[in-house]
Amino acid sequence: MQQEQSPVGSGFSKGEVYHLLRQGFGMEEFRLGQAEVVRAIGMARPTIAVMPTGGGKSLCYQLPAALMPGTSLVISPLISLMRDQVLALRARGYAAGHLDSNQDYEERAAVEQRLADGKLKLLYVSPERLQAPRFMELLSQVSVPFVAIDEAHCVLRWGHEFREAYLQIQPFLEQLRPTCIAAFTATATPELREELGEALGMRDPDLFVHGFFRPNLKLEDRRLQNEVGQMRQLVSLVQQREGKAPALIYAATRQKTENAAAALQEAGLRAAFYHAGMEGEARSRVQDAFLADELDALIATSAFGMGIDKPDLRLLVHLSMPRSFEDYYQEIGRAGRDGSEARVVLLWLGKDYRTQDFLIQQNEDLAQRAAAQRRLHRVYEALQSNLCLWRRLLEYFGDPDVAQVVPSCGSCARCAASSGVARELSAQERQLAEQFLRALVAQEDQRRSYGRRKFLDILRGSKAKGIPVQAPGYADAQGCPRQLAESLLQAMMDAGWVGTTGSEYPVLTATPIARHLLADGDSSAWQLPLQEVTTAASSTTRSSSTDRAAVSAQDLPPELDGEAGDRFQRLRLWRARTAAAQGAPAYVIATNKSLTAMAVMCPQSEEELLLVPGFGPKKVSRFGAAVLAILAGEDVEPSMS
Ligand code: ADP
Repeated sequence: MQQEQSPVGSGFSKGEVYHLLRQGFGMEEFRLGQAEVVRAIGMARPTIAVMPTGGGKSLCYQLPAALMPGTSLVISPLISLMRDQVLALRARGYAAGHLDSNQDYEERAAVEQRLADGKLKLLYVSPERLQAPRFMELLSQVSVPFVAIDEAHCVLRWGHEFREAYLQIQPFLEQLRPTCIAAFTATATPELREELGEALGMRDPDLFVHGFFRPNLKLEDRRLQNEVGQMRQLVSLVQQREGKAPALIYAATRQKTENAAAALQEAGLRAAFYHAGMEGEARSRVQDAFLADELDALIATSAFGMGIDKPDLRLLVHLSMPRSFEDYYQEIGRAGRDGSEARVVLLWLGKDYRTQDFLIQQNEDLAQRAAAQRRLHRVYEALQSNLCLWRRLLEYFGDPDVAQVVPSCGSCARCAASSGVARELSAQERQLAEQFLRALVAQEDQRRSYGRRKFLDILRGSKAKGIPVQAPGYADAQGCPRQLAESLLQAMMDAGWVGTTGSEYPVLTATPIARHLLADGDSSAWQLPLQEVTTAASSTTRSSSTDRAAVSAQDLPPELDGEAGDRFQRLRLWRARTAAAQGAPAYVIATNKSLTAMAVMCPQSEEELLLVPGFGPKKVSRFGAAVLAILAGEDVEPSMS
């Protein structure tokens, strides 16, 4: 892979870049974001690139290194990954080598000799090697124009994967002074990126974030009341999964991996567990069976998965609330690698928050503990809300592709369940929406921020005590009915125009979408899923009042969202019609408690239905068939007897 070399920092020509991409690396096109990163490095800009695992970060430093004179360095903490990459590069005729602490003397001496002779284009080093005086001495004899730092988030003291050795990088770079530095990571959130640049001594870096949206991963989340219901759902998910590949199930503790495997085996499924407490041999046996599709399900702790590249996983389940979106994203990324659809289901229990928080409390470092709690809280908040899960993830990682998923991602159960399709606003609604957004922007410009309730009180010109009458927007929407104001604000939040910050007392913020809407003024962009206001006002003709009372979404129990919420609504509608047909009060047919349990547990047989509280043999014989049919998704007539 011999290339002509341009002076460092003058930019690469498009021709040379594409020639190398196709001839040298055997790839047709860049993926989203890659070309921009390569261009920035070519211009010797300090660069931070945030792309998910598998997104193609290595090409972003390998290709520039091949186009530059001298030897470029890649600092990486993962020795096995370094070795793999060096082997792959060599196979393509690229002069690459690596230095790490696992090498023996001779191996290391040979690499050092090639470096000293100027025969290496790219040298991978582990961060520990940077401290060796001999290494710096060697580098002083060669030209090193470019240093790439892989897994750069490891430099963040309060991050989730901090590594002491990464603190050596900044003084090392200070001494080496390469022309260009680029940092790569899959997980730095917007709050941490600035810190990341500073920790590596980068001045005013260019930032690139791309590729987090994976529309083939269909996300679902269900909050369950107890482990019995959780196992029941797990069994049915594994039974119904598509394809031959096993389901991959993540559990938080070793004990839980073993319990879940036992529950699946009892249901006649081929299940095995995997955790760090097992002997090496047993672990490889399980891993081999998993790779050979000899299992229906593998239940593992997070110890499983590094380096596993099975492309055809169609079902991935989490059995507890993840500690952070970083962990969650990394784990779900193991499903659907071949690009075909995969189901990713989070079955969590209310007590998970406390369990995770308890584990966090065991860390004695106060700042690390606080950071871990913030990460956990972000996950909890997202699961509590009804918003699109993909949007939450993309916002968390600060991926601008979030614009693609608004108002609906088409790839999470929440979006699938909400019939809230966006529609163009009426003139009055649009005027109100504009007033809200202008007020919000003006408040932000004055560094004022308010929670949701206070914001609405301000806009509606409340005279109550504590309402700041000087706040921008005060009384702009005077006379607007509270319900309309609330629904409109909710729809703007759902559509990503209005965001919130702060966890304990969240305050409203205007998002870039809001500012864009106000600046642009294109009327087709003013579309919102404003469904509740309109159905309340105009749906009198089609459905009867019984039906409307039964399907109002206002009073859903909090554990019911996504598919369970949908099931609950259908059960409630059937109950209302049955009660009306029989002239009996609804609770006589089934209590709310029973309906909630049915919706959550989703029983599939009369025996299972008997486990629902308040549903004894008599009720099962009267209503069992109807309930099971509803849960199976069928349309059912009201029960007459
Ligand atoms: P990361 O380091 O971001 O986890 P990798 O650099 O290992 O990801 O890339 C993941 C896979 O994608 C590799 O098999 C790589 O060869 C492939 N890949 C990267 N960029 C492209 C591209 N532009 N076209 C085709 N394949 C690519």
